[in-house]
Amino acid sequence: MYELQMVETRLESGTSVLHSIEQRLTSTGGITQAQAELDSLRAKQESVRTRLRKLEADAEDATAKVSKLTATLYGGGIHDSREMASLEIEISHAKNRQSAIEDEEITLMEQLETLESGEAERARMLAELQAKRGDLIPELLAQRTQLSEMVDALTKERETAAGRLGPARLAMYTRLKARYGHAVSLVEGGMCHWCRVQIPSSDVQHARGDTLTNCPNCGRILFTE
Ligand SMILES: [Zn+2]
Repeated sequence: MYELQMVETRLESGTSVLHSIEQRLTSTGGITQAQAELDSLRAKQESVRTRLRKLEADAEDATAKVSKLTATLYGGGIHDSREMASLEIEISHAKNRQSAIEDEEITLMEQLETLESGEAERARMLAELQAKRGDLIPELLAQRTQLSEMVDALTKERETAAGRLGPARLAMYTRLKARYGHAVSLVEGGMCHWCRVQIPSSDVQHARGDTLTNCPNCGRILFTE
């Protein structure tokens, strides 16, 4: 029984490590997130560039308008002072528009610079993550193969140990294991290893023989070496 318990303990820890390796193999380790961030930075850059192209066209229009109005004003064709004053106002509006466009262009260029350096940084991070994962995968696959073999071997060992017990003892083992997690407890220095209670020497004698003896305190089956 003690042998079965030891095999099962090793089998359980092997299975759980194998499971965590499977999880690491399927998880992308931040790559998906880094890629999404990179995509979003690129999309933002694209919209800033689109806006800048629109502003360039607007700036050309504004410049043309200022030139045209200035030419009219100083062309010598206008003599009415009210008409001149109204033209001057129009020119001043067009110039204001020009400088507003320039201001927005400067702001957007700065944004674009920030976005571009962010993109370079993220792209570098992503490449690093991908390289790391590229190195990790073969390692994990090798570990998985090794562990699968170990788990298979332990499963066979477990079957053999369970078969040796016979149905009655196996049923008892299974029941106690389900209740306590561990069915068997080693007697060490006359004490139950699990609950640290002194075992009467008559019980230790029984356990040493082939009689199934339970710890009077925790109920686990006592095993003596
Ligand atoms: Zn006990």
